[in-house]
Amino acid sequence: MQEVKWKNCNLCGCDNTRYLFTKNSCPVVRCCECGLTYAIPDENTYLQDYYNEGYFKGEKTKYGYIDYNEKEYIIYNFKRYWKKIEEYINSGRVLDVGCATGLFLEGAGRNWQCYGLDISRYASGIAQAKLGPTIETCQLLEAPWQSEYFDLISMWDVLDHLLNPMENLFKCYQLLKKQGILILNVGDISALFAKICGKRWYIMIPPTHLYFFTKRTITAMLNKAGFEVLKIERTGKLVPLKLCFFRLSYIFDNALMNAFFRYVSKYRFGNIKIYYNFYDVMTVYAQKK
Ligand SMILES: [Zn+2]
Repeated sequence: MQEVKWKNCNLCGCDNTRYLFTKNSCPVVRCCECGLTYAIPDENTYLQDYYNEGYFKGEKTKYGYIDYNEKEYIIYNFKRYWKKIEEYINSGRVLDVGCATGLFLEGAGRNWQCYGLDISRYASGIAQAKLGPTIETCQLLEAPWQSEYFDLISMWDVLDHLLNPMENLFKCYQLLKKQGILILNVGDISALFAKICGKRWYIMIPPTHLYFFTKRTITAMLNKAGFEVLKIERTGKLVPLKLCFFRLSYIFDNALMNAFFRYVSKYRFGNIKIYYNFYDVMTVYAQKK
């Protein structure tokens, strides 16, 4: 477990914070200097143990996935991102940080050499079986590759989970070639939907998520790590109906919503794909300066 001085803001280093509320026994605070919002997890939370099979298969207390292996819609969403990425860069070595079972890398064209890492032994084992020995089971900070090795680094649903996002972005800077591209996504706590939901926002799930960004704070963090932000998009995604109900059951944790979720999951129409966009997730394209 990394040692983190929780009183100090990960972005600006200031220790002057305003308490917002407590969620899942974690206090959530906002830095008075730079506005970064973050949760303070119990010091006994060991993140390595958190991402086991249950996280990827619908263990509700973990706020993960219903079944990450139901991959059709995840692949569809990743293919759309590959098209956008290839407007900037279309070949070389790609590192997917938090690669889970390897679905993003599977969508890469033949012009890419694929590398990945994940702290979940369960997930990286599946990825390794498909993609081979270039998949590692480790944290980004322990990544075994030399400096300036990659042309592209992706971090899907990763940065808001980390104890020290700033240090991890510095590591991305180190691993990327000059002009290399970093693509990542994070929630936007300043989005209207997030404001309406408040502490019930489906992304407000400490200790799974520890950081809650805005356009301003993610841009400041990337700039500090040596990146220029090229574009920030809010694309939305195609998901099965039952995943919507799974997420809604975090927001409205009552018997009725849980019954709906069980009902929708049981029948075929739970797999109907719907496109949703609450404009509360930012996809950020950045370039190493
Ligand atoms: Zn700050």
